[in-house]
Amino acid sequence: MSTVTTRIAPSPTGQMHIGTVRSALFNYVWAKHNKGTFLIRIEDTDTERNRPEWTQMIWDDFEWCGLIPDKKYIQSEHAPRHRELLERLVQEGKAYVSHEPSKNDPNIEVAVIRLKNPGKTVVFNDLIHGEITFDTTELGDFVIARSMDDPLYHFAVVVDDADAHVSHVIRGEDILSSTPRQILIQEALGFSRPIYAHLPLILSADRKKLSKRHHVVSLADYRDEGILPEAMINYLALLGWNPGTDEEHFSLEQLIERFSFDGVQKSGAIFDRTKLLSVNQHWMRELSDDDFSKHLDVGLPISHKLPISHKIVVLLKERAKTFKEAQEMLLGELSCLFSEPTLDRNQLSIKKPKERPSMTKTALEGLLEPLKALPEGISAEAVKEAVMPLADAEEAVGKGGRGAVLWPLRYALSGQERSPDPFTLISILGTKEAISRIRKAIAILKK
Ligand code: GLU
Repeated sequence: MSTVTTRIAPSPTGQMHIGTVRSALFNYVWAKHNKGTFLIRIEDTDTERNRPEWTQMIWDDFEWCGLIPDKKYIQSEHAPRHRELLERLVQEGKAYVSHEPSKNDPNIEVAVIRLKNPGKTVVFNDLIHGEITFDTTELGDFVIARSMDDPLYHFAVVVDDADAHVSHVIRGEDILSSTPRQILIQEALGFSRPIYAHLPLILSADRKKLSKRHHVVSLADYRDEGILPEAMINYLALLGWNPGTDEEHFSLEQLIERFSFDGVQKSGAIFDRTKLLSVNQHWMRELSDDDFSKHLDVGLPISHKLPISHKIVVLLKERAKTFKEAQEMLLGELSCLFSEPTLDRNQLSIKKPKERPSMTKTALEGLLEPLKALPEGISAEAVKEAVMPLADAEEAVGKGGRGAVLWPLRYALSGQERSPDPFTLISILGTKEAISRIRKAIAILKK
C-alpha cells in the first residue's frame, strides 16, 4: 500500500476559521488512520493579505487542537521551485507570457502567465462526491501566475502538493470548482494526480454558508468562550461525518481509529450550537477537579480566582456548558459560596405581606436545631433528608406550603433570586456557616 500523506494549507489572512480546523482534522485523522504523514503548509503567496502574526496564530491554533503536524512549512520558501516550473512550462510551450492591460488599472500593461488550455473534459473521482466530469473549455487559457515570481494559488498548490507527495487532497467543497483547473496544471507539469475528497460545506441553521459577518466562525472565539479543544474536535468531526451508530463522543484517538470516508455526507452540514455545547459539557465533565479548576482561572484577574472545592466542581459540571458560563456563575449566582450575601428583608418571605416576617422567622428558627445536629461535610442528599420533613411539617409550613420554608432558607443562604437549592448550598457552605447566615436572616426579620 502506498503511503498516505495529507495536508492542510491555510492562508495567514485572518483568524482561524472553524471550517479550516475541520478540514485539518479530517486530513489529520485520515493520515493517522493510515499511519501516514500530516503536513501543514502556510499558503502565504497572497502577499497583500498575509500578516506574519497570523502565521504564528495558525501554528498555535493547531497545537491547541492537538493537530500536531509531522512537517510544517511556509509556501513562500518554495518560491524558486515555483519559478523553475513556471519557466519550464513556458519553455515547453505549455504556458505563455501574455502582455495585457492590468485588471486593476487598464493603463498599465502586465505580463501574466497563462496556461495553454487543451480544452478537454476532466473526469476525476472524489471520495465523497463520486465521479465528477468538468468541461474545461470554458476556462480558456487561464492565468497561473501574475509574473514569473508571483504564482497564483492554483499553480503553487499543485507544485507543493506534488513535491510533498500528497496522496489525498481533503478540503472544503468551496474549492471543488477549482480542482479541474489544478488537474490541468498537474497534467501540464507531468505530475500524478492525488486522490480528492471535498468536504460538505458548513451551513448555519438557515442553511446559509457560515460567514464571518453573521456567525461566530473563528476558533479563537470558541476557545475564549471556554470550549475545550477535545469538544471542538469532537464536534467538528460530527459536522459532516457520522460513525454509522448513535455514538456522539469521540476523542481524537477514537476518531483516528473510526474515521472513514464512507461516513462523510455529501450535503451541507448544519452547525448546531446546542450540540456543540452539549459535547463541550461532556468533555468538561471528563476533567479531573484540578484540570477543571485550571480552566476556570483562564482569562480571570488574580482577584477573581476562587478556591474551588470538589463539591463546587460537581455543581459546575452539572450546570455549566462552557467555562465562560461557569465563571459567570461563580461571579454571579454562586458568589454566595465565597462570600456572605447582603440580604433584603422584603425578599426573605414569599407569602402574604402581613404575616410574612413572623412566619418566616418561625420557619427559619425551626431549622436551627436540626441543622446543628448535622455534621460538616454532609452531602446535599443527607441535608435534604433532614430538612424536607421540617418543610413538610404542618406547623412550620402554615398556609405557605414547602416554599414558605425553602424559599427563605435558600435566600438566607444565597441572597440571590436564583441559586442552587438550599440543600446543595448547605452541603457546600458547611452547617456552621449555614447556621450563621440563617441567624443573620432571623435578626433582620426581628427588626
Ligand atoms: N490556501 C487555500 C485555502 O485556504 C488552500 C485550499 C486547498 O486546500 O487547496 O483556501
